[in-house]
Amino acid sequence: MVVPYKHEPFTDFTVEENRKALQAAIKQVEADLGKEYPLIIGGERIMTDDKIEVVNPANKKEVIGYVSKANQDLAEKAHQVADETFDWWRKTKAKFRADILFRAAAIVRRRKHEFTAHLVKEGGKPWKEADADTAEAIDFMEYYGRQMLEIDKGVEINSRPIENNRFHYIPLGVGVVISPWNFLFAIMCGTTVAAMVSGNTVLLKPASATPIIAYKMMEVLEEAGLPKGVINYIPGSGKEVGDYLVDHPRTRFISFTGSREVGTRLFERAAKVHDGQKWLKRTIIEMGGKDTIVVDSDSDLELAADAITYSAFGFSGQKCSACSRVIAHEDVYDELLDRVVQKTKEQVNYGDPTDNSNYMGPVIDQGAYDKILNYIEIGKEEGRLMTGGKGDDSKGWFVAPIVFADLDPEARIMQEEIFGPVVGFTKAKSFDEAIEFANNTEYGLTGAVISNNREHIEKAREDFHVGNLYFNRGCTAAIVGYHPFGGFNMSGTDSKAGGPDYLIHHMQGKTTSEML
Ligand code: GLU
Repeated sequence: MVVPYKHEPFTDFTVEENRKALQAAIKQVEADLGKEYPLIIGGERIMTDDKIEVVNPANKKEVIGYVSKANQDLAEKAHQVADETFDWWRKTKAKFRADILFRAAAIVRRRKHEFTAHLVKEGGKPWKEADADTAEAIDFMEYYGRQMLEIDKGVEINSRPIENNRFHYIPLGVGVVISPWNFLFAIMCGTTVAAMVSGNTVLLKPASATPIIAYKMMEVLEEAGLPKGVINYIPGSGKEVGDYLVDHPRTRFISFTGSREVGTRLFERAAKVHDGQKWLKRTIIEMGGKDTIVVDSDSDLELAADAITYSAFGFSGQKCSACSRVIAHEDVYDELLDRVVQKTKEQVNYGDPTDNSNYMGPVIDQGAYDKILNYIEIGKEEGRLMTGGKGDDSKGWFVAPIVFADLDPEARIMQEEIFGPVVGFTKAKSFDEAIEFANNTEYGLTGAVISNNREHIEKAREDFHVGNLYFNRGCTAAIVGYHPFGGFNMSGTDSKAGGPDYLIHHMQGKTTSEML
């Protein structure tokens, strides 16, 4: 019997001992910078000449490490290994696979600050965000391990007196996992171990901006007893390696988290049936969001302003759950705007995330920086710039938090995912109109309603069409097993990470019936 699931608590960095521990861990990470990392195929370490240079987004000159890059030949080799390994791995006991995750979670928990410090450097995450990322990776391992044990119990179906019927889930086959840089540990780990614990073998292609944490996870899983060839670590370019693996006729499913542009492209590619392919590929795709906080006329404005500020600017708005739109009732619009602008100016400072006094760190790379700066110009045309509007990419990619007011709900700032510290405000005449504006996007990931009005809350519960809807709190920070996470419409394929049915997406039901 495993103990019931409970989410990993966050570290309290107001406690000096915890602060010192993380500072020491950051020093340790700094001492280890610039190492070279191999691929891992069938347990074999393969160092290639062609490498990804991974830099600290807060300090472009600081190289975190050099990661070997797979090419198509190596991707093919990895695919063959994964395919062969699947032959026996699919028959292993659920308990055996879940136990690997419980041991791996314990290893990460013991060395928590070491991982968190690494995320500060590789992902440019402030302490609090990095700590939450590590905690979530632990949660995914603990939660999916338990979910697999549940699924293994089987589902009751009926049998007539002359027969013995059974129904159970079996794994799919070789899965390609393409993970994002924003939750470089949590989502990378969650998507990989979900596929693995359900009995599949995996080709893991982590985001090119943040592949080192994935190597570290591989080491942990190996230490926890993961057999060779079950998860193969093959960083590389999306065009060369990613497309090759997605197109491969022996690929059974693709699990992707990232941008809408890449997600829809992979969805289309995966739909094509190639020569020698015997199945229709399954896709589990998580894409973007254009997430709204609706603020009602009767509401706690201080709570609303806090929720908006954190949801918009936590990790520089680089969450698909981030609040990028506020729709406020006209009765409270001006006061709310004023409070958010005030809080942003007073609280949301930014700088090197190794310094815990910085609320925000950098954005991930030059592409992200340029995109955000371009949207600042668009926003100035479309609305009123209340604060922010500048960046500095001399050392790292830093952007000041930005608030735009008085936007039309159709404005580009209110429609397009920017993935940066930018929030736009729109005024609504009524609660109904606010919900209408909130739904006026192609996405449907998260949303929040700040209201004291019970009727309005119940209306939103029915009509606000997002996968994760929160009341009287912000719209980020879903917790594994408590807030199953995933969106509707152009936010993805409607799966729920950290939810009770997530693993089933990686499996297929098999019925057996024996005549008695
Ligand atoms: N699960 C995260 C949250 O609730 C967001 C994940 C993402 O950005 O991809 O904030």
